[in-house]
Amino acid sequence: MGTYKIVKCPYCKGILAVKLHQKTKTCTYCGKKFKVLPLKALALARDSEEAGLLVKYLKAKEAKVEEFLYRRKNRSEGNND
Ligand SMILES: [Zn+2]
Repeated sequence: MGTYKIVKCPYCKGILAVKLHQKTKTCTYCGKKFKVLPLKALALARDSEEAGLLVKYLKAKEAKVEEFLYRRKNRSEGNND
């Protein structure tokens, strides 16, 4: 039985699931290898299925936040005085 933690790639900020005791991980998004231990766990999962769901959930959440920030940025860029 494996426990997983959800972390963010320090290079591309991609959200990934890694086994709890795994020391390094090669990012599936940018292909870079990084150390897992110093990274903050965004969430913990009991199995790979739960880990997959959490990755999906956190990605969706992040996409919404980014969309929100992007819209705000665009709005303020329109105010050139
Ligand atoms: Zn990456």
